[in-house]
Amino acid sequence: MITRLAPTPSGFLHAGNIYNFLLNWLWARSNGGKVLLRIDDGDAERKRPEYVEDIFRVLGWLGLDWETGPTGPDDFEQHWSQARRKDVYVSMLNELVRKERVFACTCTRKQPVNGTLPHTCACRQMQMPLSKPGAAWRILTDNNTLVTFLDKALGTVAVDLQQTTGPFVVRKKDGHAAYQLCSLADDGHSGVTHICRGEDLLPSTAMQLYIDRRLDAPGFINCNFWHHPLLSNAQGAKLSKSAGALSSSIMGIVNKNELLGSFAQWMGWNNGAPMSLNEMTGMDCFVVDKC
Ligand SMILES: [Zn+2]
Repeated sequence: MITRLAPTPSGFLHAGNIYNFLLNWLWARSNGGKVLLRIDDGDAERKRPEYVEDIFRVLGWLGLDWETGPTGPDDFEQHWSQARRKDVYVSMLNELVRKERVFACTCTRKQPVNGTLPHTCACRQMQMPLSKPGAAWRILTDNNTLVTFLDKALGTVAVDLQQTTGPFVVRKKDGHAAYQLCSLADDGHSGVTHICRGEDLLPSTAMQLYIDRRLDAPGFINCNFWHHPLLSNAQGAKLSKSAGALSSSIMGIVNKNELLGSFAQWMGWNNGAPMSLNEMTGMDCFVVDKC
């Protein structure tokens, strides 16, 4: 069993990220599994050194460890950045091209991130060359687009990509592979078996399974999934990285075990009394045979 902590260095971490780290770490440690740290830095425009440093600072404060991955910001830049795996992403994109599964799209409208409205455009009919400068590549969602998978919390999940996302971007306009493809490639490469992520990434899971199916690349498709509810702020809004350095403020004012206890209470696992990582490890909700 291998779980992964896969933050993106596109902002300071927030309580929702911390919560996700805890679930992944506890899931592995409660079953004798291993933990991978992978920092998804494919979005070079939003990446900043202080965000990378923030990730290591938060993990250190929480006391979470990992078997595989960078030991610190310098090691990350030298050995683990996704920029070092471009060849893998390019070969996957080329395979999609060989299978005639992508088309060039020059639309400027942003695709809805929540997958509630399918993307539609006339670009496919225009049959522009894939080499057209500034064109994104979208994967065709024209047949067999129903993706189903088993989720630890939600049971069987079914997403029809034709109805939800429509053809989605696998190569961005800047020529770099899109998040969906990089994340899928890296999970497969590192042998991740269990993926715990927020419910906002349900469309991503479906898109990645769809790409995986098109590439006949086993790995991701056999993963176990757990999509957890998102934490919200006092106003009920989803937490986001743009909200600022929330993690740093949490570390300054909150006792760690109180934070763990409140997370456990929020999930309905205890009464909110402070808990240590040791006490949380092995709780029934994390043990594979008991949940
Ligand atoms: Zn288009």
